[in-house]
Amino acid sequence: MKNLVSLTYLDSYESSKINSAVERSFSNIKLNTIIKPNMKVLLKVCLPDSIEPDSAETSHPAIVQGVVEALSHLGAKCIIADSPYNNYSQAYLDTVYFKTGMLEVANSSDCELNHNLKIYTIDTPNGVKTKTITLLDVINDVDVIINLGKIKVDERLGYLGASANMFGLIPGELKSLVLNRLNTIGDFNKYLIDIIQALKDKLIFNILDGVVAIEAGDTQRMLSCLAMSENIFSLDACMINILGLNYNNTIIKLASNRELVDINMPFEIVGDEIDEFRNEDFALYDYDLNTPIHKNSRQQKNYFKLNQQRPSIKPNRCKGCSVCSKICPTNAIMMKYDKQGELYAEIDYKKCIFCNKCFLACPYTVVKLKTPLGFKKLHKSINKFNDEED
Ligand code: SF4
Ligand code: SF4
Repeated sequence: MKNLVSLTYLDSYESSKINSAVERSFSNIKLNTIIKPNMKVLLKVCLPDSIEPDSAETSHPAIVQGVVEALSHLGAKCIIADSPYNNYSQAYLDTVYFKTGMLEVANSSDCELNHNLKIYTIDTPNGVKTKTITLLDVINDVDVIINLGKIKVDERLGYLGASANMFGLIPGELKSLVLNRLNTIGDFNKYLIDIIQALKDKLIFNILDGVVAIEAGDTQRMLSCLAMSENIFSLDACMINILGLNYNNTIIKLASNRELVDINMPFEIVGDEIDEFRNEDFALYDYDLNTPIHKNSRQQKNYFKLNQQRPSIKPNRCKGCSVCSKICPTNAIMMKYDKQGELYAEIDYKKCIFCNKCFLACPYTVVKLKTPLGFKKLHKSINKFNDEED
């Protein structure tokens, strides 16, 4: 089992330091001997939202630029891709590429930004949490995937590193739908392993930008490292070790149960000494694999807003009886007159709380429940979702 992890000291986003750290790291894990001229490489960056790079929530453009340049020197063609949390549309991707600095990277180097919005579904018969997974189709356009993640401890999901970055391969809103059907941090990590196993035949290398990480309380903390490995679990184990987390409370325990990493020796270091990177002040949350996922986050609220079935009234079918308007608890239904002077009901979705009382109350079955566009397809793709435990 390959478990080599390259650790390289990197204390700033200055391009000359990055270039030398990337070059050393490539050589440490022999990536420079694997990438061949004209290979297509997907740089799976971390762009969860339209956020500026100094937030440390997204891939830093200077690191992406450094990796692109190193790959270009080896003759590879790079394509930058990720799927933001709430939306996988052309317009939103363009906004995200601009805001996160990826557009500037593409303009100043020999790489493309992904605009392939297709998705595909694969069966995962050996999956523990799911038997089908829907992913970005751009994966199928490349020879190699470089999974370029960030490091964060998250109040809701615990440690997020290389494995969690693969969750971004699930298109847009579907991520919220998946999360909504997982109950614990352990469930989330089992699902991540299902994704990683679904892609086990792909050539994947993993990089963690640990120059600046995010600790508990959502504050930034320098870790001053660039870490790389072919083995995604070894890379996460190394970072989990540096942060002082217990493997048994993390994805490493679950990956070890599935014989994907040896929990007794999950990694071997090549490069700088691991002790240089330990940071006892790094703030952590107290959680384990049984800790429930907080469902009250901004993303979950957006999920409900985007995907909740909603009432719909066709004005020409409405009899104008006002029953729905009177029963609505938020006064979201106004009675209006049409051009013929007939009363009809109109819903203000900004006020609607999707309680469906109008649907149940309408004596003429005029109120219908509609599923938002695009959601049906996504929903179908995970309808074999499996709640089996290990
Ligand atoms: S679903 Fe509930 S809140 Fe929305 S319009 Fe109908 S009654 Fe009002
Ligand atoms: S209850 Fe039905 S028919 Fe009556 S106003 Fe509302 S939608 Fe129209």
